[in-house]
Amino acid sequence: MRNDNKKSCPRCNHYGPIEQDFGYRIMNRRHVRPQSWCRACRSRAKHLLVSLPPKQTISR
Ligand SMILES: [Zn+2]
Repeated sequence: MRNDNKKSCPRCNHYGPIEQDFGYRIMNRRHVRPQSWCRACRSRAKHLLVSLPPKQTISR
């Protein structure tokens, strides 16, 4: 397996190396999955989530 695999962002169609532009989500020691959205989209989505009113957050 090559280490420089690339993918495109389903949100903004940005295409680039996963490690650099997307990053990985580490579930545990053996489970690492690439982020589906690029870093820019994730930071935007994070901003949107933060701006939601507290009532709409998922309760545990
Ligand atoms: Zn994107």
